[in-house]
Amino acid sequence: MNRRKNRTLISVTTPFHNEETNLDPFFFRVERALEETGEDYEIVCVDDGSTDGTLAGLIRHSVRNPRIRVVSLSRNFGKDVALSAALDHARGDVVVPMDADLQDPPELIGDMLEKWREGYDVVHARRAKRDSDTFLKRLTARLFYRVHNLIADVPIPDDTGDFRLMDRKVVEAIRRLPERTRFMKGLFAWVGFRQTSVEYEREPRVGGETKWNYWKLWNFALDGITASSTLPLRVWTYLGFGISTLAFLYGGWLVGRTLLLGTDVPGYASMMAAILFLGGLNIIATGILGEYIARIHNEVRQRPLYIVRERHGFDESETMRAADGEKPVARLSGTSHG
Ligand code: UDP
Ligand code: MG
Repeated sequence: MNRRKNRTLISVTTPFHNEETNLDPFFFRVERALEETGEDYEIVCVDDGSTDGTLAGLIRHSVRNPRIRVVSLSRNFGKDVALSAALDHARGDVVVPMDADLQDPPELIGDMLEKWREGYDVVHARRAKRDSDTFLKRLTARLFYRVHNLIADVPIPDDTGDFRLMDRKVVEAIRRLPERTRFMKGLFAWVGFRQTSVEYEREPRVGGETKWNYWKLWNFALDGITASSTLPLRVWTYLGFGISTLAFLYGGWLVGRTLLLGTDVPGYASMMAAILFLGGLNIIATGILGEYIARIHNEVRQRPLYIVRERHGFDESETMRAADGEKPVARLSGTSHG
């Protein structure tokens, strides 16, 4: 495959949520790494409702380097939605989603480009080690990938984050997936294409703090599993059949025994156990239904995925293909915010 036309435009897409302290090191390293590739680049930064000086800092950087372009969302929408917004605004021939905390080494982009030139459409960055994470985080992450891949229609590769390089056609495919529950790893996997990976060692955050706590991770896991699989919904049919069959056999045995040996009254404990067990199962099944219905509810409301408050560094002539359905915003380059 010939991918050596003129110069490749690389889009780095990064969500920022309260990353004030990381801005300078981030742009320093990313710009240097991108310049070393010898290709053209842009850095699409999405400010995901930061409450610190992140937006002001991003705008300052975009004035310094016009290849840095800024989209500011109207509030905090969460990382996956912010990343979707960034993909909507990226124009590159290849797109590289990357975290703001430099846990994804930008120097890897060169290697990824090599693979892309060989004809791969998606180049994952696989974490060789997760030493920078705590033991509990590693354990829960491992468990999540196990369970997810056991029941998902399309497995997601474990130990890859969002850091990867994607060809334009992959990005377009992802943008056509309309769901509002943006479980990006699942969407990336679902679209398929020719994939390969390069390895790296995940570093600790340069500064600031992770925005994840275990409650958020749990909900993230629920999103992931419900988005990728309907097994939790369907399993109840079989469980129901199984339990009914056992109950039927047991009932037959009871009738037989009563006919032969007469009635006997004891059995309160086993009866209670059975009732409570089945009641519990019922509630769990209803709860799982609820998880899916809540998500269906979210989808049918048809709300826009995100709302943009302002953009910096975008031209009027570039039609905003953004999924938010807004009218194209007038030239905003370095204006509108002071
Ligand atoms: N992030 C975001 N919105 C949020 C939370 C996080 O845009 O609500 C961004 C954050 O600024 C960073 C990336 O998502 O660029 C990854 O976040 P973090 O480093 O906290 O996650 P971790 O690396 O611990 O999984
Ligand atoms: Mg991080």
